Amino acid sequence: MKIFNTLSKRKEEFVPLEPGKVRMYVCGPTVYNYIHIGNARPMIVFDTVRRYFEYKGYEVNYVSNFTDVDDKIIKKAMEEGVDSEVISERYIEECKKDMAGMNVRPATTHPKATQEIPGMLEMIQTLIDKGHAYVAKDGTVYFQVSSFREYGKLSHKNLDEMMSGFREIKVTGEDNKENPSDFVLWKPKKEGEPSWSSPWCEGRPGWHIECSVMSKRYLGEQIDIHAGGEDLIFPHHENEIAQSEAANGKPFANYWMHNAFLNIDNRKMSKSLGNFFTVREISEKYDLQVLRFFMLSAHYRSPLNFSAELMEAAKSGLERILTAVDRLKDASETARDRELNARELAAADEAKALVAKYEAAMDDDFNTADAIAALFELVKLSNSTLTGTDAKKFVADMRETIEKLCDVLGITTERKTESLEDAVEALIAERQAARKARNFARADEIRSQLSDMGIILEDTREGVKWKRA
Ligand code: AMP
Ligand code: ZN
Repeated sequence: MKIFNTLSKRKEEFVPLEPGKVRMYVCGPTVYNYIHIGNARPMIVFDTVRRYFEYKGYEVNYVSNFTDVDDKIIKKAMEEGVDSEVISERYIEECKKDMAGMNVRPATTHPKATQEIPGMLEMIQTLIDKGHAYVAKDGTVYFQVSSFREYGKLSHKNLDEMMSGFREIKVTGEDNKENPSDFVLWKPKKEGEPSWSSPWCEGRPGWHIECSVMSKRYLGEQIDIHAGGEDLIFPHHENEIAQSEAANGKPFANYWMHNAFLNIDNRKMSKSLGNFFTVREISEKYDLQVLRFFMLSAHYRSPLNFSAELMEAAKSGLERILTAVDRLKDASETARDRELNARELAAADEAKALVAKYEAAMDDDFNTADAIAALFELVKLSNSTLTGTDAKKFVADMRETIEKLCDVLGITTERKTESLEDAVEALIAERQAARKARNFARADEIRSQLSDMGIILEDTREGVKWKRA
């Protein structure tokens, strides 16, 4: 298997630290709101990487954190007048629901930053003891970038150039740094913020230290793969390398994988630009499997532009696969136990070749776009062979093969039969969205559709209520 390693900027053969095992760490979201579909891209991509390793027989220890202490969480908590824990716990739960909808399996461990403070204090102390960090007069602890000669090796930046570049940048509240490129490991608390006591000051951790600490605690000092979106290469992952390698005296991760951005109108989808859709919003219109299928239709290192057309294309592509499986299910009911004839044997051979094609694409740095193309060829082969075939073995093998390849992509071929409740809730949400967009014709249409289903709507002060007629 070949993986593109950001560290070497090349595809490299994957050699695990321990035969048959993969230790991987994926930087997770900051939980202060619903996740947007840009955040969903690394979740879907690296869940697929995990599934493919498992398909190849590896045992994967997959760790992904929730950043639950951060300026944005604190700000939101202050706005709502609650503790930051209330905010982070709420959005961790919502994030888990979205993940389940997208068939993103829970990680082996989902550590939370606030639960890992002792490990952070220990690593920061080690960095101070080894001369890689210093305490400023206000109690802030900084990592001294010039003490780590390899700084810049992931982002391929030159340390000297960076040092001069940084001189221009001033970060407010960080005036006591020896050098502008130094970054915070621990900082003093401000009024109303969550804080912990430490040898340096009552305060809270900087952002980067949590991942170095959690990765070490749950996976060991050296790991196989560290992953995240490409915006994390610098400074986050560069800083993680500096912290972990300076503290542990060992190389940190052997392979660094980064997904490209999910864009909208060719700009990165982000909370700060306001150009985002939450996963929850998408779920009102589509089965989230469609979103997953859309994401995997591009190679993870290619930028992907979100559009209604591409989502519709993903929806019909997925439908083609599900329909092929439906046909196989139907056929199995009338199929007979008999030897395969020449035509079926030839088709079975062709299916094997397509599985090999699929695997070759996935072995080549997880090229899901080409893997999906092979899957479509398999679906076409299944459909064309099925006409005039009633051999039980052919039908069963074909179904098993398609389902297995779908499972690697995190696509289930079981149709979800919607309950009446779910259908009604979905329509109500769509009607609300239509009203918000001042599309009253569509809103009225939905009201009459619901009335045909025997559902009566009441617009109340608390929102829309419904009952059976
Ligand atoms: P954040 O909560 O901003 O730390 O982001 C969580 C994860 O989502 C990180 O791996 C980010 O790199 C990734 N991410 C954020 N926005 C996008 C985007 N538009 N496209 C792809 N990945 C993104
Ligand atoms: Zn991280």
